[in-house]
Amino acid sequence: MNRIVLASNNPGKLREIGALLEPLALEVVAQSQLGVDEAEENGLTFVENALIKARHAARVSGLPALADDSGLEVDALHGAPGIRSARFAGPGSSDADNVARLLRELEGTPRNLRSARFVCVLVWLRHADDPTPLISQGIWNGRILEAAQGDGGFGYDPVFYVPDHDCAAAELPAETKNRISHRARALNGLLEQLKAR
Ligand code: IMP
Repeated sequence: MNRIVLASNNPGKLREIGALLEPLALEVVAQSQLGVDEAEENGLTFVENALIKARHAARVSGLPALADDSGLEVDALHGAPGIRSARFAGPGSSDADNVARLLRELEGTPRNLRSARFVCVLVWLRHADDPTPLISQGIWNGRILEAAQGDGGFGYDPVFYVPDHDCAAAELPAETKNRISHRARALNGLLEQLKAR
């Protein structure tokens, strides 16, 4: 089993990504277990931030590294909250604060102008100076509801309408969300690239 470092300490992500990469004989280890601190995410795009995190984890640990960056992009807000999705309502803001700010900013915006998408970018580096990272971007299209619905998921799920299922992401069973989400799409894309390499 070859070990790789995951530039995240989120146990959910570790489980999900670990299960997916096990068939490739890859053991995924959280960066905190290897003494890797958090990198400063000062990029302007998801892909830049994922690269910064992966490069930092690879440099400190000496292992191949995988990092992800994700968020919500709303067309009527010129792509906001974007890379600031986790702290849209300010530093330390909760999911509820962020959702409330989003609904406030979209007040009066008609349904046909509320298009949005979740984005997840995964970056794989063989080592810190790898000049050809594998990059996989997963997109999940939908629109922002006028009010929150459902209590599953996290983040913006209660206000993200999923057209194919005619409900909010927070109303989907977890298995369904994990099969069709931006993260699932990015992971599948990365898996294809790894197999090809
Ligand atoms: P991170 O990349 O896991 O740090 O996610 C950044 C932020 O994007 C989260 O704090 C959420 O606000 C938002 N986000 C990312 N993925 C999802 C999702 O699947 N559902 C709802 N919100 C999400």
